[in-house]
Amino acid sequence: AKDDGGGVHCTYVPSLHADAEERRTLELSLRHAIAKEEMHLNFQPVVNAQSEGIVSFEALLRWTSEEHGMVSPAKFIPLAEDTRLIVPIGKWVLHEACRQATRWPEEIKVAVNVSGEQLLEPNFTATVVEALAATGLPANRLELEVTESVFLRDGRTANEALEAIIALGCSIALDDFGTGYSSLGYLRSIRFSTIKVDRSFVQGAAQESPESIAIIRAVVAMAQSLEMQTTAEGVETVEQADMIRELGCTKIQGYYFGRPMEASEAYSLVAKRRNA
Ligand code: C2E
Ligand code: CA
Ligand code: CA
Ligand code: CA
Repeated sequence: AKDDGGGVHCTYVPSLHADAEERRTLELSLRHAIAKEEMHLNFQPVVNAQSEGIVSFEALLRWTSEEHGMVSPAKFIPLAEDTRLIVPIGKWVLHEACRQATRWPEEIKVAVNVSGEQLLEPNFTATVVEALAATGLPANRLELEVTESVFLRDGRTANEALEAIIALGCSIALDDFGTGYSSLGYLRSIRFSTIKVDRSFVQGAAQESPESIAIIRAVVAMAQSLEMQTTAEGVETVEQADMIRELGCTKIQGYYFGRPMEASEAYSLVAKRRNA
């Protein structure tokens, strides 16, 4: 209906207005969420596909707003990106994720999602250095997850920032692989440690979609020749886990092995597995 004329305004403007209004109040709350300590992190385990031992935790941001209650990341992350509030919020996430990881009874990695707005910001490398220095987390225990979209926006700056971060000793994972408009060109220049295969392919493969299976096979083969690992995202059932293992993904993440959990639960899980 975008190309329609005047008459459409009567029906569309009120709802657009309501949307804009909701975004505005949400943004106001988001602006103070960190200071009001409304944010915290959950941690979801990623396991070795063969041994099923925990290899890392992905930090996932949670927001419980005084005014809006629990707000889904699917809603507030895009808003934070649009308003650039993701820059200070992301800085807090990095610190908090590193701080939690230093407490775990085993030296497993923590993976932190990084938006394009953060990565393409001139001070981003300094922010990473600061988070590591302030918490004492060794660089090789921090993994940053980026999506293909950062290379579309400003490939050169993204490359430079990622090179600098790799030089620090951190690793980089390519998130949601296959969902964007990838050119694959960046796979030549960035040594990703891991390619994360999007949940949609995992679910397709489990439903025996020949396309999804073929794509996962191809991604696994490509990753192997590039000496990168592959994580299957969104594995929810034992059937999916078996399928993914058969297809050769090296790591598995999903509700089947663990939902995103509170920091204290993540700690206990590591401690329990360690003593098992
Ligand atoms: P993502 O990076 O792809 O994270 C994985 C999402 O899939 C998480 O949703 C996780 O809870 C969900 N998930 C994990 N296993 C399963 C499963 O087996 N089945 C299903 N159906 N879902 C599963 P969540 O926590 O709602 O986060 C959504 C997105 O928000 C993330 O997608 C990421 O793009 C973004 N996000 C979350 N935290 C941060 C953050 O600290 N910074 C930035 N920049 N983005 C974040
Ligand atoms: Ca991620
Ligand atoms: Ca993902
Ligand atoms: Ca995502």
